[in-house]
Amino acid sequence: MSTSKTTFKEFYHAVVDSGQCCGCGSCVAVCPLSALSYLYDETLPVLVGKCTDCGVCFKACPRYNFNAEEVEKMLFNRIRGEGEAFGVYQNILAARSRLPDVLKVCQDGGLVSSLLIWALENKVIDAAVVAGFNPERWDAKPIFVRTRDEVLASAGTRYTYSPNNLLLREAGANNIKVAFVGTGCEVEAVRKMQYNKLRKSVGTVVFTIGLMCHESYTVSGLIDKKVRGELGIEPNQISKMNIKGKIIIETKDGRVAEIGLRDARQYVRKGCFYCGDFSAEFADISAGGAGAQGWTISVVRTELGKSVLESAEKSGYVEVEPIAKHKTSYDTVVKLSSIQRNRRAKALSGGLNI
Ligand SMILES: Cc1cc2nc3c(=O)[nH]c(=O)nc-3n(C[C@H](O)[C@H](O)[C@H](O)COP(=O)(O)OP(=O)(O)OC[C@H]3O[C@@H](n4cnc5c(N)ncnc54)[C@H](O)[C@@H]3O)c2cc1C
Ligand code: SF4
Ligand code: SF4
Ligand code: SF4
Repeated sequence: MSTSKTTFKEFYHAVVDSGQCCGCGSCVAVCPLSALSYLYDETLPVLVGKCTDCGVCFKACPRYNFNAEEVEKMLFNRIRGEGEAFGVYQNILAARSRLPDVLKVCQDGGLVSSLLIWALENKVIDAAVVAGFNPERWDAKPIFVRTRDEVLASAGTRYTYSPNNLLLREAGANNIKVAFVGTGCEVEAVRKMQYNKLRKSVGTVVFTIGLMCHESYTVSGLIDKKVRGELGIEPNQISKMNIKGKIIIETKDGRVAEIGLRDARQYVRKGCFYCGDFSAEFADISAGGAGAQGWTISVVRTELGKSVLESAEKSGYVEVEPIAKHKTSYDTVVKLSSIQRNRRAKALSGGLNI
């Protein structure tokens, strides 16, 4: 993942101007001069201060010279085999929370929130980095959660973007041991920082949970224009948003509205078209709905991920079921991983209408 002799201008041109930036915010978090700021509406970084071309931000960026094989060797001591369609893993299964308060608010089976609660209550971590939720606009900003109530308040999925990596600098600077929750692109950035030994930012990350993700949307497009403008639904009236072949919006007064994925495509963030990582292939544990009802499809990748899940299961926080009972979901993970990889290749070759 060599970055020698590149200037910031060249880097910014190659990643941001080209449309490939995923908006993770890692460059902003690691810049030693605080020369970068984050534009939430555009989900992009911008230069606001003096840059010395030190190159630290390139070392964090998942869209700049990201070398999957080197990261795999670091994480798994091997690269993926031919048949591993969704990255290196030890096990794939379905998991569901045993905590009634989690089941009331979670997106799928509540695995993510349950693991965070287990880790907090057992003092494995001081806090978790998650997507804070603003019900007034259904947008998301990264926050630290330190208690069960805070985990519950930030459960569920926002299909807009939350640049969770922005908080890594604060975690490192204050020696806060964290579990990191993020989409695949965000976990890729964490791994690149670990590979490049940017310890001030990732030195206190204890484990990572990656969220499977095909795309995410702009707040101005999906929420302001489509949901509020066209469908006439005030964001604070939404009780749940889910994607199961289409975007399904449930309101507090029992209404259900649907948006076709073809229609929603105009609101997809540009950087997502360059994403080849559906299943968060570099997380300790990946979590997704993958069409399952009430279960989180969970890919256990590292020894660390295995031990976190097994401990939470033994302590009664979660239950698990073999993937054989969720064959369609398994097929979905395989299929979407391939579609996403091909979409990235097409976008990079200029063959995709973005
Ligand atoms: C943008 C996005 C797109 C997704 N697309 C798919 C998909 O196409 N197919 C699929 O199978 N699964 C997808 N998922 C994953 C799925 O929606 C669930 O997050 C996952 O199944 C875990 O469910 P759970 O009940 O275990 O999580 P919960 O217990 O509900 O916890 C969810 C956690 O995710 C965090 N979070 C919420 N929104 C965001 C965000 N925007 N960025 C970062 N963290 C966030 C919350 O703060 C919380 O900690 C997507 C997730 C996101 C964020
Ligand atoms: S090159 Fe260095 S100083 Fe310039 S923006 Fe990146 S990290 Fe900051
Ligand atoms: S992908 Fe992330 S690290 Fe790279 S330029 Fe965009 S926000 Fe910065
Ligand atoms: S599709 Fe990829 S780039 Fe877009 S939010 Fe999901 S993981 Fe990140």
